[in-house]
Amino acid sequence: MKIAVLGLGLMGSGMARRLLAAGFDVAVWNRSADKATPLGEAGARVAATPAQAADGAAIVVAMLADDDVSRAVWTGPDGALDAMAPGAIAIESSTLTGPWITELAAHAARRSVRFLEAPVTGSRDQAAAGALRFLVGGDAATLADARPAFDAMGNAIVHLGPVGSGATMKLANNFLCGVQAASLAEAITLLEKSGLDMEQAMSVLADGAPGSPMVKGVGRRMLDRDYRPHFVVPLMAKDLGYAARALADAGITSAIAAAARARYIEADEAGESLHDISAIVEPLRKAK
Ligand code: NAP
Repeated sequence: MKIAVLGLGLMGSGMARRLLAAGFDVAVWNRSADKATPLGEAGARVAATPAQAADGAAIVVAMLADDDVSRAVWTGPDGALDAMAPGAIAIESSTLTGPWITELAAHAARRSVRFLEAPVTGSRDQAAAGALRFLVGGDAATLADARPAFDAMGNAIVHLGPVGSGATMKLANNFLCGVQAASLAEAITLLEKSGLDMEQAMSVLADGAPGSPMVKGVGRRMLDRDYRPHFVVPLMAKDLGYAARALADAGITSAIAAAARARYIEADEAGESLHDISAIVEPLRKAK
């Protein structure tokens, strides 16, 4: 089966590798060609445009930064949708807004392309290990046909309902993650500035009621000043902005999403844009 992967960032490159390892005939495309080279060396066909990658593919998976990029890659000049055969399956796995996902599904339907949204939980390491969890919105029969691809890239598929439900679930998920990491950065800075033993302080947080996987994982990286990217700062700012919009559409003005988002924007503007979200602690450390 031919599968195309559009977007070879931290997540898409791992996903493409898993598809190759599972024996699929994989075509890849990325805006910056250098990221496609290692995939080409691993056996993927490297395409010059999204359309070229999608041509002849039974399934096309996109893993891109945001709504604007997704729109350009699926529906812009040399976009993937126009190159897909009727009945082929378009899977959008990026973290995007519900309104754009709904519009994209309509674009696909007009071309008789079947569509699933499948945003993911898990990060760079889970993508590389084929251990993502897919939050799927769309038709059950289409999901059944796409299951071999999902099984290669992940270890859990949650079918939430119609198109749009995956985006809502993913934004609620990342709202909680983004807020936790922002409050953790503030708490860690308070503890550091108070002169406490940080190993002892961290184990109080990690072993007690606040000790979520976020607090344990991102907290460790904040303490270690380990900012190698798992999930980069500007993308969490994007997710919190999208979550705030979804909350507003539900009648909730979220001061919490706005305050957390401000921490990511502050770090982005302070030069942390290529770093992991753990780097949001740095501007706080430097503040008087
Ligand atoms: P990333 O490493 O920053 O990769 C972003 C991808 O989008 C790259 O392929 C990049 O191409 C492409 N892109 C950005 N701007 C573009 C443009 N103007 N035109 C064409 N392509 C463009 O991000 P990632 O971590 O892989 O995340 C990808 C998606 O998954 C995002 O929606 C993110 O929110 C979501 N996600 C991430 C994680 C995580 O932990 N990392 C977890 C779950 C979901 P270039 O290489 O050319 O820049």
